[in-house]
Amino acid sequence: MPKTYNIAVLKGDGIGPEITEATIKVLQAVQEKADFKLNLQYGEAGLYCIEKYGTNLPDQTIQLLKQTDACLKGPMTTPEEAGAPVSVAVKIRKLFNLYANVRPCKTLPGVESLKPNLDFVVVRENTEGLYAGAEFAVAPGVGIAYRIITTEASTRVSEFAFKLAQTRKKHVTYVHKGNILRITDGIFKDAVKAVAKNYPDIEVDDLHVDAATMQLIKKPEVFDVIVTTNLFGDILSDEAAQVTGGLGLAAGANIGDKYGMFEPVHGSAPKYSGQNRVNPIAIIMAAALMLRNLGEEAAAARVEKAVIAVLSEGKIRTADLGGNATTMEMAEAIVQKIRS
Ligand code: NAD
Repeated sequence: MPKTYNIAVLKGDGIGPEITEATIKVLQAVQEKADFKLNLQYGEAGLYCIEKYGTNLPDQTIQLLKQTDACLKGPMTTPEEAGAPVSVAVKIRKLFNLYANVRPCKTLPGVESLKPNLDFVVVRENTEGLYAGAEFAVAPGVGIAYRIITTEASTRVSEFAFKLAQTRKKHVTYVHKGNILRITDGIFKDAVKAVAKNYPDIEVDDLHVDAATMQLIKKPEVFDVIVTTNLFGDILSDEAAQVTGGLGLAAGANIGDKYGMFEPVHGSAPKYSGQNRVNPIAIIMAAALMLRNLGEEAAAARVEKAVIAVLSEGKIRTADLGGNATTMEMAEAIVQKIRS
């Protein structure tokens, strides 16, 4: 009997369904040569659920997630009115304690990037900071958002970043705004420094977040692993995605001790919804991260190799890459490379 993994698939909304369906074709192809099976179980979540269930993450979907080994998640629109449900991604990260948001940033062949041969990872604390959702109107025109930073969460994500750096170029840059946020980023900085003592072979440096945004443009090649708090990581990883090739290619993993959720870095891009024209590579690469996290390294590498082969040839390119191929044509080209 081949090993079977139960995978929750949340297609999401906007461009989510079309790019997720494209990814499922890739996952089907990669199983043909593998000695494992993926039991894909579909769950409802996203904007359309609010009218149907009064929430964007219904209980039955939470139960489904609890019964699976990992989640592949399409992007979802988050309404911005006060009082609207918080983002599904943020809810799942908190519910399953997915404390490390890992966003590999690597130049790919045939894709325009700011500089050649970039290869670094942004590790973002994923459970607290300004995403704690503790925001209040205290008087008309006066609002307060709590930025919650704890030693526990900062230590946990730092441990993750240092362990990751050990498998890479052995360099960690921690990013903060300790000159202004002396208490909260003081806690974060102290936690990183305490963890660093256990990793004497890792080179450590730090940057203020404003300087880090500049350095990502000026000298992105100096980075290996960047570790930072939630909002800074969100902003830096979108910037890093653009520096290395664009949002259409950037994948993210949300990792906890017992569960993982894998998604593209980009959002639901509603203006392109249903047009079969966006790039599915970001979520396909997220699926590869999922396979790797499940321990299926060979299958993960096969997907990544197929993506690289299609990009190197440059014949099939979606609009963001300067071409006119459709979402499905890109997925089919990747499937063909996996089968060849
Ligand atoms: P977005 O990432 O959806 O889109 C920004 C732009 O990036 C698009 O207009 C498009 O030009 C480009 N883009 C994004 N994905 C692409 C792809 N696959 N191929 C080619 N180009 C692509 O960001 P936004 O407009 O700020 O957000 C739209 C909605 O998505 C919001 O409701 C936001 O809350 C939500 N969002 C969800 C997630 C998530 O589900 N994890 C993440 C980010 C944003």
